[in-house]
Amino acid sequence: MSSKTVKCDLLVIGSGAAGMAAALKAASEGHSVIVAEKSQWLGGTTAISGGWAWVPGNKQGVAQGDTRQEIETYIRALAKDCYKAEMVDTFLDEVPEAIDWLERDTDVEFVYPEMAPDYQMDAPGAKPSGRAISGKVVDARTLGENRLRLRPYLDTYTVFGYMPEVGPDIAQFLHANQSWKSFAYVSKKLLKTWAETVLCRRSFDRTNGNSLMVRMVSSAAKLGIRMWTETPVTKILQSENGVVTGAVLGGVHAGTVEARLGVVIAAGGYSSDPALRAEYWGHDPHGDNHFTPTVGHDGDNVRLAAPLGGHVDTDVHEPAAWAPVTVFTGLRGQQRIFPHLRAFGLPGLIAVNRKGERFANESSSYHDFGMAMIQDNVGQNETFGYIIADSKAMNKYGIGYAKPWPIPQGYFKKTGFLHKAGTVEELALEIGVDVAGLKKTLAEFNAGAAKGEDPKFNRGSNWFHHFKGDMEHQPNPNLEPLDKGPYYAARSRWATSAPTRVWPSTGTARSSTTTTSRSPDSSPPVPRPSASSAAATRATAPTSGPPSSSDTPSAGTPRSSRRCGANPSRRPFWKRSDMPFFLVRYTYTGDTAGRDEHRPEHKSHLQAAADRGLILGSGPFAAGEEPGAAMIYEAAGKQDVVDVVDADPFRTHGFVASYDITEWIPMIGPWAVAAVGGRS
Ligand SMILES: Cc1cc2nc3c(=O)[nH]c(=O)nc-3n(C[C@H](O)[C@H](O)[C@H](O)COP(=O)(O)OP(=O)(O)OC[C@H]3O[C@@H](n4cnc5c(N)ncnc54)[C@H](O)[C@@H]3O)c2cc1C
Repeated sequence: MSSKTVKCDLLVIGSGAAGMAAALKAASEGHSVIVAEKSQWLGGTTAISGGWAWVPGNKQGVAQGDTRQEIETYIRALAKDCYKAEMVDTFLDEVPEAIDWLERDTDVEFVYPEMAPDYQMDAPGAKPSGRAISGKVVDARTLGENRLRLRPYLDTYTVFGYMPEVGPDIAQFLHANQSWKSFAYVSKKLLKTWAETVLCRRSFDRTNGNSLMVRMVSSAAKLGIRMWTETPVTKILQSENGVVTGAVLGGVHAGTVEARLGVVIAAGGYSSDPALRAEYWGHDPHGDNHFTPTVGHDGDNVRLAAPLGGHVDTDVHEPAAWAPVTVFTGLRGQQRIFPHLRAFGLPGLIAVNRKGERFANESSSYHDFGMAMIQDNVGQNETFGYIIADSKAMNKYGIGYAKPWPIPQGYFKKTGFLHKAGTVEELALEIGVDVAGLKKTLAEFNAGAAKGEDPKFNRGSNWFHHFKGDMEHQPNPNLEPLDKGPYYAARSRWATSAPTRVWPSTGTARSSTTTTSRSPDSSPPVPRPSASSAAATRATAPTSGPPSSSDTPSAGTPRSSRRCGANPSRRPFWKRSDMPFFLVRYTYTGDTAGRDEHRPEHKSHLQAAADRGLILGSGPFAAGEEPGAAMIYEAAGKQDVVDVVDADPFRTHGFVASYDITEWIPMIGPWAVAAVGGRS
């Protein structure tokens, strides 16, 4: 594995919104910044998120008369005993300024929706709008070479490849099977998505969290920030007197980074780490009772911060943001997680427990619903509930991943995701829920729902509930009796959507991002956003550490006018190239089982290199040949090829007995002539 030392001012670990915001600010102040991202994609969980940010005190809220006192009252009502005045002050002081700065000095733009109710509309100080904002739709071609480096959408969340924008699109998609106008709207979106995907591998219009990350990454490229994917940070380095000096990196950019000002840990949370879940989450004592759609949240933040004195902050209202999910397992065993961030507040859907009883307001926020679900399952080995729908609701809205009419249900039933029965009794028996309990629940719920009321949980009683329902449904956007068979059920599990905080033991970090930096008597710290610093130019060049050949381009990189934007991987193979070609040949060890186990990682690693335009072709030797593989690379230099080969999981796990890399000059044959003009 190559081992090199690179210098910069600031090293940021993680390329989600937290890391990129820190990187953008530092780079805009003239500091040279490296963002190290362990995945092949940029954007983290943020890129698959809804992309809404709760930023009270923003310009829309202020214009509507929202006051600091009301905001504090609201936060106090939610945080209860965990209210920390100093942290709330810092948050409220700095967040509006940070949002203004992002909009003014970077490509980031937000939408300020007319309707974005607080999650707890019944709490004192709550507001129906003026606090939550969302990322503005963006054309991903603005990313140029980086377009396909951005993390794609969460596939369960897309509708045939299109990601409906939270807000305006949702209503249209909800009614596409009921109104010609909505059908036309949705068809147009889908046709555009499919055409762009066929021609350019991914649709251009990016929505929700993906749009936020497109905007951040495009700004980062303009500022010359080096964004290193497939580069996990494995250790933070300190001098003898405890000053952070840099970090050790693995993967494509394996080596050491010396960071003059410090290291920002923005590596997400630990919801994918069973051991940490078992340690910190009372409801998952064995680390086997949890699903998460988050990406890269493997607890590296905890492990990197611990040797520096970092600790997990347990003095919080809840250790994470909970959400119910349904888990779909395909016929070939592939697992897909559908987060129910709208909970189940649509008319005609309810959630019940093993006794057939409702245990929460289904139109409350996913976090509140998740908490209620955990509470209801105390003492059980598995945390789950069932979502029940009658045929009206199933045909109109579907249940999560199981789409509504006219999409056939056969596949969802065959995989065991969706249960269907002619009567309530039969459904209860099929899913193992108490028959009398479920019948009683439906009788009670239906009596209220017919009048637009829910005496048990007050579902559908405020703007937030309605926001999660179907606004066109009368008399209440959240309520409809379940009275028309057949009846349907899907099992709902429990998940996290947001990371847990890790704090320096004695530090003053003010967000879920931890900054470790040099001691006060060494170099000056990276400035936090401030009125004066915000005015800094965004075209400032990095002060040290020139980008490597696989870095992102700095400002002024020529933009291709090609249809798909400037992406080297889209250069058709017959177009001429000035870069050298390399032949790579692997000889494998006899560990076939090991290769089988790690093949998905190996393939995604090589695919990422292909997406970056490095690999033109790759594949194994045919059966009967000595086990191995061959690849053709096109790269600026041999080191770029070595970096990819060294980080290949087949190699890091020891399945490659030997390999060679040979620069190659194609001369004869139609491909050689077309590709390079038959170099001689
Ligand atoms: C489906 C879904 C919808 C959501 N919707 C919303 C919403 O609308 N509003 C909201 O506020 N929140 C939402 N959330 C939660 C929100 O997405 C996260 O809280 C947020 O994105 C976290 O940002 P981050 O930058 O801290 O982490 P991330 O965006 O996850 O970035 C962390 C990055 O660090 C990388 N990393 C980890 N370890 C290392 C290492 N050792 N070296 C290098 N890189 C490393 C990871 O690969 C990852 O890319 C949603 C979550 C989900 C799953």
